[in-house]
Formats: sequence, C-alpha cells, structure tokens
Amino acid sequence: MTNAADRRQALLAEYENIKSRQLNLDLTRGKPATAQLDLSNALDGILNGDYRCADGTDARNYGGGLGIPEARQFAADYLETHPSQVMVGGNSSLQIMYQYVANAMLNGLQGAESAWQNEAKGSERIKFLCPAPGYDRHFSICEALNIEMIPVRMNEQGPNMDEVEQLLSQDPLIKGIWCVPKYANPNGVVYADEVVDRFARLGTIAGANFRIMWDNAYAEHHLSDEPPQLANLLELSDKYGTLDNAIVIGSTSKITFAGAGMAFVASSEANIKQFAEYLGISTIGPDKVNQLRHVRFLKDMTGLRALMQEHRKILQPKFELVLKHLREGLSGKTINNKALGSWTEPAGGYFILFDTQPGLAGRVVELCAAAGVKLTPAGSTWPYKKDPANTNIRLAPSFPSLKEIDEAMQVFVLCVELATLEASES
Ligand code: PLP
Repeated sequence: MTNAADRRQALLAEYENIKSRQLNLDLTRGKPATAQLDLSNALDGILNGDYRCADGTDARNYGGGLGIPEARQFAADYLETHPSQVMVGGNSSLQIMYQYVANAMLNGLQGAESAWQNEAKGSERIKFLCPAPGYDRHFSICEALNIEMIPVRMNEQGPNMDEVEQLLSQDPLIKGIWCVPKYANPNGVVYADEVVDRFARLGTIAGANFRIMWDNAYAEHHLSDEPPQLANLLELSDKYGTLDNAIVIGSTSKITFAGAGMAFVASSEANIKQFAEYLGISTIGPDKVNQLRHVRFLKDMTGLRALMQEHRKILQPKFELVLKHLREGLSGKTINNKALGSWTEPAGGYFILFDTQPGLAGRVVELCAAAGVKLTPAGSTWPYKKDPANTNIRLAPSFPSLKEIDEAMQVFVLCVELATLEASES
C-alpha cells in the first residue's frame, strides 16, 4: 500500500469511530449565542412606565414613520451620517432591504415611470451585481423578485471594481449591487478606501435609477484591538453628487436581541422620505417602543462599543478555537504538493471562510453531515447556490459552545483530509 492509502485507511477508521458516537453538532448558524443575548436582558423593563420620546410623543401610539428622533440620532451616529438622512424601522435590516428593492422594482424610486420593472422589455430581466461569495439572503431577495444575478469576483480589497465598472457601462439593466463592506459575510473582507471611493462614483456610470445596497451589518463587530476603518460611502457620494445611489443599512440584531433589535437605513433625504411614504402604505409606523428601549439601553456609540467588547469576550475564544484546529490540523500539510485548503482569519464579523481544493467543498460538507456535523451547504454563498469552483465552506462559530466547536472542528479537519485523499486517488 502507498503512504496515501495507509493514511486514508487510518482516517477512515477514525471517521467510522466518530460516526458511531452519533454526534449532533451545527456550525451553520450565524446567530448570537444565548450568553450574548443575555448581555442585553436589561432592555426588558427599561422603560419602566416612561414612554415619552425626546420630542414629547408617546412611543406607544401610532405614527412616526421615520422613527423617533433619538433613535434616528443614534442610527445616524452608527451609520456616520445626519439624522435627517436616516429612517429607523422595525427589527430587521433584511426586511428593509427586501422592501427597498421591491419598492424600486414595482413602485419606482422617482415616480411610477421609474419602476425598474418598466425598463425590462419582453423576456429581459432586471439584474443585480453580486460580489461572491456573499450573503445568501441577499441573493434570495433577487430570486424572489425575479432579478437576475451576475456574480462579481471578490478579492482582498473588496469586489473587483474594474469588472463592476465595465459591467455597468455595458448593461443599463443592471440596477443594483449587494455589498457587505465591513467584515463581509462570509469572507471577512473590509473594503479598501480606493474601492469605496470607486463605489461612490458608480452612480455617474450607472445613472439615477441605480442603487448600491451597502449592508453594513458588522460595522462595530470587531475581533481585534485596532479595528480597520471603512471609508464613509455616504460622505463620498455626497461629494460626487451621487448620494441617491447609496443605500446604507444596519441593525442591532447582533448587538442586542437578534430577533427583536432595531434596523435602520440611510441615504439622501429625498430617498428616505420616498421610502418612508412607501412603507406608510403597509404600516402606520414602526415599533417605537422598541426604538425607545434601545436608545435608553445603548445610550450612544460609547455605550454600544462597551457592549460590543462584552460580545467580543464571548466570540473571540470561539473564533480562536476554530483557527487553532485549522492551523494544527491542516497547516503545512499537502497532498500532491497542494495545500489541503486555505482559510480567512477575520478581524471581525461572524464567519470564517474555508476554501478546499477545487471541487471538494460539497464532498467535505457531505462527509461532515454523515458524521453528525452540519455545515452550511456548499455553494450557498453564491448566486443560485452555484459555487463555480466548489471550494467555499462558511464556518459560523458564534452559536455553538466551545466544547461543541472543539468536537465539530476535529471532524471537519478529518473530513477535509479524507475528501482530498479520496480525490487524489480517484
Ligand atoms: N446582513 C448580513 C450581512 C447578515 O449577515 C445578516 C444576518 O446574518 C443580516 C443582514 C440580517 O440582519 P437583520 O437581523 O437586521 O435582518
């Protein structure tokens, strides 16, 4: 037997042994652990009977489509803009994004004639650029609204802007682009200043009806002492006269309660007014009581950053444990002179991205599943769930305990090696 065959036999024996333990572990969910949610339990009851907002309105009543003044101020500080350019909504930024794109598609951003759907004739479809790998739920919004997705290559500085600019200059049916500009889901990239500057100028190529969906979900979710700075898209867009093209979104879902946080969006005042009017058809106002609770609890950016330090204390050991397993199990190992994989070491956010050798991500996920370790399905970080190289696997360490991560990562590392050996022998 060759060394590789010996090694494979040994790994298979270990694999069968793990299978017999009937593990039930899950590395799929990018959601906060219970201990993180507990950090915000003081939200409950914080109003203590005082429902008056800063401007005297009663948060319990109808109205306030743009959000209460103190929540708009808070969100403006978070998104680094002016309160007049901010709308604070309900609990979900994803819902804001869906509603914004649906509004543009069906209703029009500058009057009914501007509805995106009017621009697609016959069998044509409206299109979005999708830097990939990216956030699967952005892609689901496109699918739900019959918007064609065009993947764009990501590199370490952000999306490939030559490709973005070229595609936009060629195709007027491209109406938007999805971005997670800081600690991107799933590869942890922080867009470089030059990339953000080029984003701010895209409106000059793509026109008034184009939107950059700038989902800054992880703006304050640091895992390092000296967090990288993201350039301010709104400020730059203002400078280039393209503020209408920029839609900047955020929420406290991974700051306070994931299912009961506060979501917000910023753009030009005209855009925000138009969007609030559109939402006003479906609701007589957002949950202002929750907005008031959030501002009383978090207070300001100093309060928020102190809370994020507590999150970091819980999250960092989990990320480090995943990385320890990857380093100890895979660093320096080769099969057919090729590394068994590569991975990101993010400075923030919620994910680690692992790349297998080409063609093997699906097999690794399958082997892990059979051994009781659930991973996000291979391909799900790509439009139409198609990772052309079949290499990306998204690891989400936030929810499981350290013990569960420890067990799951032993299985993961073993499955990576097993799948790579299998492929090298076939
Ligand atoms: N945007 C990104 C990039 C995310 O990763 C997530 C959740 O994982 C969300 C948005 C969802 O945010 P929300 O809970 O505010 O809808």
